[in-house]
Amino acid sequence: MNNQYDIIIVGGGIVGLSLACALARRTSLFIAILEAKSSRTEWNAAIYYHRVSAITLASQRIFESLGVWNDIQNKRISPFKKINVWDAAGEGHIDFDCTEIGESELGFIVENNAIQSVLEDNIRHYPSIHLYSSVTLKELVWNKENIELLTNETTFTAKLIVAADGAHSCVRKQIGIEVNQYDYHQQAMVATVHTALPHQQTAYQVFRETGSLAFLPFSKPNVSSIVWSLSTEEAQRYASMDDEIFKNLLAQAFDYKLGPIQAIEERHLFPLSRQQVEQYIKSRVVLVGDAAHVMHPLAGQGVNMGLLDAISLFDIIIQALNKNKDFASDLCLRQYERWRKADNIAMQTAVGMIKNMFASDQHLMKVLRSKGLNAVNHMAWIKKIFIHHAVGNRIALPTLAQNARII
Ligand SMILES: Cc1cc2nc3c(=O)[nH]c(=O)nc-3n(C[C@H](O)[C@H](O)[C@H](O)COP(=O)(O)OP(=O)(O)OC[C@H]3O[C@@H](n4cnc5c(N)ncnc54)[C@H](O)[C@@H]3O)c2cc1C
Repeated sequence: MNNQYDIIIVGGGIVGLSLACALARRTSLFIAILEAKSSRTEWNAAIYYHRVSAITLASQRIFESLGVWNDIQNKRISPFKKINVWDAAGEGHIDFDCTEIGESELGFIVENNAIQSVLEDNIRHYPSIHLYSSVTLKELVWNKENIELLTNETTFTAKLIVAADGAHSCVRKQIGIEVNQYDYHQQAMVATVHTALPHQQTAYQVFRETGSLAFLPFSKPNVSSIVWSLSTEEAQRYASMDDEIFKNLLAQAFDYKLGPIQAIEERHLFPLSRQQVEQYIKSRVVLVGDAAHVMHPLAGQGVNMGLLDAISLFDIIIQALNKNKDFASDLCLRQYERWRKADNIAMQTAVGMIKNMFASDQHLMKVLRSKGLNAVNHMAWIKKIFIHHAVGNRIALPTLAQNARII
């Protein structure tokens, strides 16, 4: 077996697979994806999967550019046209509508395994990509012009290693990149719920002092996916609560916006933390997605930012190839680091500010945030800026997020 590659991507999640697809469509680079899991992702249209992502319009354009959006759509997507946010502790509320920015939707709720399974199928069409599963990483060894990656099975070599192996990145640990971590002491409870009233393709979010609660609309009018951030103790208590008691508590916490909860499926918990690495690159190794940054899910931006990392790196590699330069050189990778670190930190800071603002129980803060939300709600131009930012329509986007038909 020839184990020499141009690029090795460690981690075959949504971010790693998307990078591989982009590169294989546009270059003749030889790529390996090393994945720890042993099995392929299952898709079953008969059930709603509990892990979902709010996908921005920028991410939709990325998937279109990769030629996978139609397949994702054929599995299942749930467009949302409005966002309705309110403060449980005051009068403040704000509503966003896609017509305010001339779009036909604000984004899509997509089950993670729909995206993952489509990407896994897609990479099999490219002979230049080899996917290895059940891989355990052992060691990285630097040579003059490449890196050796020792695994449980064999030794791989590549000019560039991309760490797309998630929040607990093994590559990041191996190469000794420091990570600034903050534990929120919160857990996100996710579940599929059936409500008495239809969601009307609206994503809802209520902020309570104890955390945020979102109802994300699925394709069926009375089915939503909830993401409820709670203190660790509360989350564990709610997770083991009797269904009937929990349904009432949930409807109440949601101010009965969609009436009583008629049914709830299995509840799952995810610990929440914020992470940001000190460096995105280190001698022929580059970090993307959750390996580089982890955000609170209240703004639904983690995978969207990770996709921007992947295709920004794609842009940098293409530019280097066009100029016959070494795409793994420090000079090239530093461009990627400057680009993505600034954008990710800005997003993380904005998410942190929203979280802290609503966590405060001080009277003055409550008054200010209510007045602030209501004021913004009536200022069309500021609202437009917010909406464009939330849907991913920003300046300095990488090429594949700008134009669907670029490759
Ligand atoms: C409750 C919750 C709700 C969220 N909602 C949203 C949302 O609405 N919108 C949004 O944009 N984001 C959301 N996020 C964030 C989003 O899920 C993550 O940002 C995203 O999954 C990160 O993708 P990734 O590919 O970087 O990492 P991962 O999804 O973690 O994938 C990493 C891959 O690497 C593999 N791997 C791990 N270790 C190794 C190893 N040592 N060797 C080889 N392979 C390895 C794993 O098996 C996996 O396949 C949410 C997160 C949570 C917890």
